[in-house]
Amino acid sequence: MAARPITVHIPPELRFFLPARHRQGRLRLPHDSDATLGHTVQSLGIPLTEVGRLHTQGRTVEAGHRPDPGESVRVESRTWPQPAPTSPPRLLLDVHLGALARRLRLLGVDTAYDNDREDPALLAQANAEQRVLLTRDRGLLFRRALQAGAHVRRQHPDAQLREVLARFAPPLDPWTRCPACNGLLDPVTPEEVAHRLEPGTRATYDTFAQCRGCARIYWPGAHHENLREILRQARHHTPPPEQEHGWGEGPQA
Ligand SMILES: [Zn+2]
Repeated sequence: MAARPITVHIPPELRFFLPARHRQGRLRLPHDSDATLGHTVQSLGIPLTEVGRLHTQGRTVEAGHRPDPGESVRVESRTWPQPAPTSPPRLLLDVHLGALARRLRLLGVDTAYDNDREDPALLAQANAEQRVLLTRDRGLLFRRALQAGAHVRRQHPDAQLREVLARFAPPLDPWTRCPACNGLLDPVTPEEVAHRLEPGTRATYDTFAQCRGCARIYWPGAHHENLREILRQARHHTPPPEQEHGWGEGPQA
């Protein structure tokens, strides 16, 4: 006689990871004496980076727990804000999140990003620099070697920014990082950079900063207002985590 199936309860905010036939959230699965709970959850399409506590028969268990036949398991999503390996958190964005990277840097969040990076290099950098790897590609989050990662659910960069700020609550320090390379900005005098400016710029502005990484020069130009708006939105529209539930946009095939 086959062993009794196990029952797994998936909360609404994680159901968009599930195959369509499982979206009701209460799954009866064949018992597999070899499978850990973590393996079972991942086999349903849910990266463990998105999973919080696991409960079974009234107690909390680890992902390595092996359910008995007939056991009922409840999966929780991670509570936000969540801790990162470092404080303040350091982030690494995958190649598709360039617009988000720029926004985070403008707010002073340490955000590594390169638009030409293979997956193994991303994983290696995330681990070596203790960065949280942010991606919309959940395949990356299933990599066993990855120490810290998070799935970005929203598609629009402004919405992604609000999501990341709600999830990791990084301290914001606007205008301190280079949006192009993540380097720190130092104030410089107009005289120091005069030879590199157009005459009109030199005449109009007296506040300049220079990137330690790439030596680009910044001043409060026309784009400043756009950046101010991003900052305003980030500060005033960061929703509390409980409002984030039910965000799922579904896998974008
Ligand atoms: Zn730079």
